[in-house]
Amino acid sequence: MSDVPVALTPNPREAAPRRTAPPRPALASEEARRAIRAAEVALLDERRQLTEAELAALADVPDSSVPALAALAHEVRLEWCGDTVEVEGILSAKTGGCPEDCHFCSQSGLFPSPVRAAWLDIPGLVEAAVQTAATGATEFCIVAAVRGPDAKLMAQMREAVAAISEAVDINVAASLGILTREQVQDLQAMGIHRYNHNLETARSYFPQVVTTHTWQERWDTLRMIADSGMEVCCGGIVGMGESLQQRAEFAAQLAELKPHEVPLNFLNPRPGTPFADMEVMSSADALRTIGAFRLAMPRTILRYAGGRELTLGDPGTRDGLLGGINAVIVGNYLTTLGRAADSDLDLLSELNMPIKALSDSL
Ligand code: SF4
Repeated sequence: MSDVPVALTPNPREAAPRRTAPPRPALASEEARRAIRAAEVALLDERRQLTEAELAALADVPDSSVPALAALAHEVRLEWCGDTVEVEGILSAKTGGCPEDCHFCSQSGLFPSPVRAAWLDIPGLVEAAVQTAATGATEFCIVAAVRGPDAKLMAQMREAVAAISEAVDINVAASLGILTREQVQDLQAMGIHRYNHNLETARSYFPQVVTTHTWQERWDTLRMIADSGMEVCCGGIVGMGESLQQRAEFAAQLAELKPHEVPLNFLNPRPGTPFADMEVMSSADALRTIGAFRLAMPRTILRYAGGRELTLGDPGTRDGLLGGINAVIVGNYLTTLGRAADSDLDLLSELNMPIKALSDSL
């Protein structure tokens, strides 16, 4: 479907701006203290995963309890994952013109957003992989804005992965949308180390975000990836109007999948998309979410992805790394500018968090 020309005409129903009040936590301070203490016992003493009810309480703690939640999330991350941080670069092989209608995405061809379809060539991908490796990153992810790959994109991937492996020592990951079983096998045979496919949001909220495919279709692709032996990278976006309970539901659904990595994005409302008019999450809300997701998935790589600059800024980026995050994407994201790689690497060194070595991640 990636080659099908897509008319860049707005769909008036889908493109209508929506404004949703940010969710307000309802737990009293005393209840929040009890919930955080119970999570501490479960994760550090009993070493068991939390239930969805326990997660729902953590997602609902008031702003005044967020520092305590973040402190526990950091302790749990150190205990279950250690102090290393995984660094990854991403590059879009095909940008824009996607036939799907994910309401947060400026790469959809169905909204009048400024991103237009473009393809990157193989030498460009190799060059980007070499530059990414030079930052110390261990993972290079090739992303395409498609519903799923067609034969041409699969052939380009085969060529690109071979050329990158020839040029530089870095793991190659891919994010190409919904897959068939044969495509899963092909990607594994090419040497793809990790596959990214986000569930985006809780199953119960997904129909408010995407109407052109289902949460189940995404889940089915993820199950096939997990069964193939490739690492599963699966996360989503928070701050899209979902309730705090739905955030807990989403964290529990991700935990059930046991992903190797969870990229956590904060909605950065893009012009022209149906979510363009949504409010940006507060820093406290973002840190509460990071803490709850870390406690939901104590041994997962929890990666800062898009939107953190807008939601958290520099001080919040540090707070997140001390509140449950243990991976970052360096450089730019797919459609928005990220922080300079150097400022992230300097921050990691200041926090005494070593970059995870390639040999550890193979
Ligand atoms: S999120 Fe992916 S599938 Fe959805 S519109 Fe954007 S590029 Fe297409």
